Amino acid sequence: MKKYLLPIAMFAVFEAVAVALWLTKDNLFYLFNFSYIGASVALGVFLYIQGNKNARRITQLLVGLYMLVYLGLISNENMQIEGFWYYLFTGVFEAATIHYAVAKIFGPLLFGRGWCGYACWTAMVLDFLPYKIPQQPRRKGLGWIRYVVFVASLVFVAALFLMHVGNIERIMFWAFIVGNVAYYAVGIALAYAFKDNRAFCKYVCPITVFLKPMSYFSLLRVTCDHSKCVQCGACKRVCPMNVDMLDDSRKRENGTECILCLECVRNCPKKAL
Ligand code: SF4
Ligand code: SF4
Ligand code: SF4
Repeated sequence: MKKYLLPIAMFAVFEAVAVALWLTKDNLFYLFNFSYIGASVALGVFLYIQGNKNARRITQLLVGLYMLVYLGLISNENMQIEGFWYYLFTGVFEAATIHYAVAKIFGPLLFGRGWCGYACWTAMVLDFLPYKIPQQPRRKGLGWIRYVVFVASLVFVAALFLMHVGNIERIMFWAFIVGNVAYYAVGIALAYAFKDNRAFCKYVCPITVFLKPMSYFSLLRVTCDHSKCVQCGACKRVCPMNVDMLDDSRKRENGTECILCLECVRNCPKKAL
């Protein structure tokens, strides 16, 4: 029973957020939204503990499809970074701003880049591609691309407001469609070019501008019990993000890239991680 405390605790955290937002915003949607996400995450953790190899992917599909199809396409909420800027400029603490605050700005202090491993609808598709383990070393000097995309998204939304463009809500909906198509196209092309499913995450994704510095302080992180480790290197070989998980310091190589997929933990023959 003790081993199931983690999924129960994770569900409880999401439920606390769900109830707090429901009562403060007087909107039942938040109760449904965060309860659903909490249940999906808890189910993934539960399945992982049961030894299910697809546990992470199940949560990723449950949350990713919900956000892409229900929130994005049916409810017309732009949850991409443009949506965050849009709500920020309108001064409304709703939808995308709450989503970013919980999943991508303050949440990573607790669960690092869990969003990237278990919920992102872009990675949900990229993780189906054949290069789950990178076939080439990480490219140096391409990280600047994420900052260009980050600034471009900000300039795009700021320009709409400064030029007093009408019907911005409709534009934001189409920005969501076009943005997603572009992300998938670039993500798939990069995955094949670099033989690495997560190349888009490593070099292009603008959300990492928030995720990386916040996850540096993450409470939840993979560490190594060096008394058990036999230096076989299996963990490093399977890591999709090239993290040096054998170094316990926060400054470890690619430490802010960990998506908590737990592939290293699953593949360690000595249970040292
Ligand atoms: S880095 Fe970006 S695209 Fe990749 S999983 Fe994270 S949020 Fe999604
Ligand atoms: S394999 Fe381990 S270190 Fe690499 S991203 Fe997954 S959890 Fe993080
Ligand atoms: S897989 Fe386990 S034993 Fe092998 S190097 Fe990694 S932590 Fe050490």
